[in-house]
Amino acid sequence: MSKKKVRSLKELNYQAYLKHRYWMGQCLKLAQTAATWGDVPVGAVMIDRQGNLITEAANCKEKNQDPTAHAEMIAIRAASQIQQNWHLNNYTLYVTLEPCPMCAGAILQARISTLVYGTDDPKTGAIRTVANLPDSNLSYHKLKVIAGIRELECRQQLQNWFESKRIPNSSSKPFGLK
Ligand SMILES: [Zn+2]
Repeated sequence: MSKKKVRSLKELNYQAYLKHRYWMGQCLKLAQTAATWGDVPVGAVMIDRQGNLITEAANCKEKNQDPTAHAEMIAIRAASQIQQNWHLNNYTLYVTLEPCPMCAGAILQARISTLVYGTDDPKTGAIRTVANLPDSNLSYHKLKVIAGIRELECRQQLQNWFESKRIPNSSSKPFGLK
């Protein structure tokens, strides 16, 4: 490969990285709105191949008293309704926190092309941390995963929220809280 080609590949990767950072920034803002209504701050957006925003969502589990109202589930449902099609294979889902088993299952069911997330979830992360559903026998769909975009900001936002709630000392203390 010529030097010129290598350089252009790096530039392309950098452009993609900047795009991921931008959309994760939008997810961080959505997550903050979830915190204002008392939910764990998790935000998600769905983007099409052309880079258009399709849906945005924030965790509404407490707000709606709905255990399925995670940001990813809301984004997936809304995108399917907007498209009138449950095949979301042209879409990228961005989310601040590694999806749980429920959301990972929905991501695979929807055939989402790419998942970009911020920080690992040491409690229920089902992409690679506690379990790896996309690479397991349960999955018949190849999911591209990019983890660690704005990781520190995503993790800090969650840590700050849990600290503000003063979660009592227990084995279930999340996100590396001391
Ligand atoms: Zn979830």
